[in-house]
Amino acid sequence: MKSVEDHLTGILGRIAPLAPLELQLLDAHGSLLVDEVAATGDLPPFDNSSMDGYAVRLADVADASERYPVVLDVVDDIAAGNAPKTAIGSGTCARIMTGAPLPEGAEAIVPVEWTDAGMPTVRITKAPQSGQYIRRRGSDVTAGQTVLDAGSVIGSAQVGLLAAIGRERIRVRPKPRVVILSTGSELTQPGRPIGPGQIRDSNSYMLTAAAREAGAIAYRVGNVPDDPKILIDTIEDQLIRADVVVTTGGVSAGAYDVVKEVLSELGTVEFDKIAMQPGMPQGFGVIGPDETPIFTLPGNPVSAFVSFEVFVRPALLRMQGAEVTERPIVRATCSAALKSPEGKRRFLRAWYTPPVAGVGEGTVDPVGGTGSHLLGSLAKANALITLPADVTEVAEGAEVSVMLLG
Ligand code: AMP
Ligand code: MG
Repeated sequence: MKSVEDHLTGILGRIAPLAPLELQLLDAHGSLLVDEVAATGDLPPFDNSSMDGYAVRLADVADASERYPVVLDVVDDIAAGNAPKTAIGSGTCARIMTGAPLPEGAEAIVPVEWTDAGMPTVRITKAPQSGQYIRRRGSDVTAGQTVLDAGSVIGSAQVGLLAAIGRERIRVRPKPRVVILSTGSELTQPGRPIGPGQIRDSNSYMLTAAAREAGAIAYRVGNVPDDPKILIDTIEDQLIRADVVVTTGGVSAGAYDVVKEVLSELGTVEFDKIAMQPGMPQGFGVIGPDETPIFTLPGNPVSAFVSFEVFVRPALLRMQGAEVTERPIVRATCSAALKSPEGKRRFLRAWYTPPVAGVGEGTVDPVGGTGSHLLGSLAKANALITLPADVTEVAEGAEVSVMLLG
């Protein structure tokens, strides 16, 4: 049997980051930036007010108080988006709104709350400091400054910054398009009546959601019966929109496990037994004219989920240009004794509780049984305990490695 590490290394060795693509800002959301971005101008682009109030000269208002207000002539009214019409001379001021450009001669802003809000004269009862409530040109970002490094994740704040500096499009690693299809003649879709011997196709929903959580654009094809002809036709039809194909089911040793048979016609896919539980039967390779990578995962929902986490998710992250493709792993105290098969890496659904106030080690509680069909317990897990292949027993209270999901 092949080790989990060898299988993953083999996969990542054959998966390259997708070619960069120039995208509109919002289409680039969630992707990794390819080139560093420098600002072409200053932010803010001009000196402006950070308050609704009055732009003043300091000397005119230095003695202003509740008791002895200063009265000034208001010679201009500057709204955001307007240009000042005149400079501020001695004994005068301009009404100004937040974000409006500062008139020449202004040295500070008096917030409207310190005045009677008057027009065409205003009474001022408090003196601002020099420069108070003025946002200086370039105080946020200066022209030429690098604002985002290559490899940055384009989140909402980065989208905002790029818009502020006037960028419409950026080069990013595109999101991989993943086609997900499940095989099994026993499968039916939620919302349909369920016949004798049928079960609902949970895998295609689960893995489509998981692929989206991994940053991919996922297309759920749904279930295909265990029929070689239909399966071949479906996969061939889907290749046009796929950077990766993920199938579930049909890779065990059963009589109707058609996936293996079909894929030998479409490309070179290797089927291996991986030293892990769950998830032992795995296939990976390339198919079709573009040598599209394909993962064939086992059909049991927990096996499919764990296989996706361990092999597919890292590949999807690699395609997006991520350097770190693994989930975070922490050490935690295990609340129960555990057994693990000799020679296989074990993944157990668990609930991880972080340490109080972040000090010391968290605890981890296994949830549910060990059967690979137990979706109920999978949905209660926020982590997977991972036991190395050579570990066969863990005592209650021992330290284990925990892979944090999401
Ligand atoms: P297989 O790998 O096709 O032998 O399937 C193994 C087990 O997983 C069987 O009990 C299947 O019924 C079940 N199974 C396969 N595909 C799915 C699916 N898409 N959703 C839920 N269960 C599935
Ligand atoms: Mg099957």
